Parts: sequence; structure tokens; C-alpha cells
Amino acid sequence: MIARRNDSNARLKGIGLFGGTFNPLHMGHLRTAQEVLEEFGLDHIRFIPASNPPHKERHDLVDGAHRFAMLKRAISGNPGFVASDAELKRAGRSYTIDTVSQMVRELESGARCYLIVGLDAFMEIDTWKDYRDILKTISLIVMSRPGSSRGFREDGFSGIEAYMKERISDAYRADGNRHTFVHDSWQPIHLCTVTSLDISATTIRRIAGEGRSIRYLVPDAVAAYIDDKGLYT
Ligand code: ATP
Repeated sequence: MIARRNDSNARLKGIGLFGGTFNPLHMGHLRTAQEVLEEFGLDHIRFIPASNPPHKERHDLVDGAHRFAMLKRAISGNPGFVASDAELKRAGRSYTIDTVSQMVRELESGARCYLIVGLDAFMEIDTWKDYRDILKTISLIVMSRPGSSRGFREDGFSGIEAYMKERISDAYRADGNRHTFVHDSWQPIHLCTVTSLDISATTIRRIAGEGRSIRYLVPDAVAAYIDDKGLYT
């Protein structure tokens, strides 16, 4: 079910789940999430930091408590953004299937629920634990992201259809405008072109490590927290 702006479905409560390491949270996360919030008429987006992400190097991953503190400072004052410690509280690896199953169970029935991922993350979803179950359980919103060489074109999404059909399920088909791919028994996948912000946490950690300013790449409150705690040096 899609409920973009001005769609009658938009009257149903809409919730986005946005997972990541957020190491640290940056303007690329915030601006793109804000655009998704508005485009899909969501009530709120839950930012869910992973405690122990299966796909990331661990050596430069700062403690979850720091990442959560930065997240809370970054989204403070935005009623559309919520910080969730669901994965940080759970022991062991942070698997998206566990988070999605838990949250979909908890959410009131009738709510529109979406898992939000960037294009780079989506293009490796076939390596995620129980990814087929994720796609059966929840609609996805895939955001364009610059620098994702696979799958990127001027509209942000070349190559994604072939990837979906070859690596996930050949039963996906474009629904009319090619912004949504539908499947007979799984949930739809929506593509959302967002402002291209070539910002990554990797770059921010590197710049901070070189002692250079990360101002305007992250909110001021995040930059101040990193400075105060001496993170990424
Ligand atoms: P790192 O550089 O450490 O790998 P990252 O900047 O990719 O981190 P994550 O916390 O891993 O940040 O990203 C969480 C989610 O946000 C992922 O789905 C990712 O694709 C998406 N994302 C991150 N930055 C952007 C951006 N600039 N534009 C669009 N999506 C983004």
C-alpha cells in the first residue's frame, strides 16, 4: 500500500523504521529522512541504531550509548523523528528481521509501516539474515544515494530492477510509474528520490580523525558532543 502525499491512504497512521549504525548520525540521514517523512505522509520515523551490526567493521564503532546520545541531540525539536533504543537494548547481533518483526507486532493494526533504507544498503539486502521474511513482512522505502555506483543513474535507480528480479524474486514488477515494485505475496518496494547529499559517516570519522572541522556535515549539537567526548580521534 503506497500513500504518497495527497493519497487517501495517507489518513492511516504511517510509521517509518530507519535503522543504521549512525556512527555518527549526519545531515545525510536527517535531510533524506525528512523528505521521506513528507513524501509518504508519515506520522513519525523511528531512528534505530544497531548495537552490533553484522555488516560493519567494529574497530571504529563507538559505544551505542554515545551514538544514541548524538541521535537524541540531533533530532531534538523535530516531532516527526523519534529515537528508538530497541536494538541497543537487545543482546547479540542486530538483525533487521528481529526489529521489524517486533515493531510490526507492537504497532497498532491498520498503521502503514515502512522500513527505510538507502540504495547502497538495499543493493546488498540479499546478504541480510532472513531477507525474504523482511520483504514479506514490511514495505520498503529505498532512498537514492550518491556514490552507490551499482544502481545509480540520474533518477537514482538504474539497475535496481535487475537486482530485485535476479537476486531477490523475479515476481517483482513495476507498478505503473516505476517508483513502486509490487509482488503478488510480498510487500511493495517504493523508490524515493531524495536530495543527493554525498555525506557518509566514514568520511566524517576520517575528517574528525584528521583534526579537521565536521561543521555543517552533522548538526552542531553532534559536532559539540564528538568534540566534548573526544570521539573519532
Ligand atoms: P558508514 O559510512 O559508517 O558506512 P553511513 O553514512 O552509510 O555509514 P549508516 O548509519 O550506515 O550511515 O546508514 C544508515 C542508513 O542510512 C543506510 O540505509 C544508508 O544507506 C542510509 N544513508 C546514509 N547516508 C545517506 C545519504 N547521504 N543519503 C541517503 N541515504 C543515506
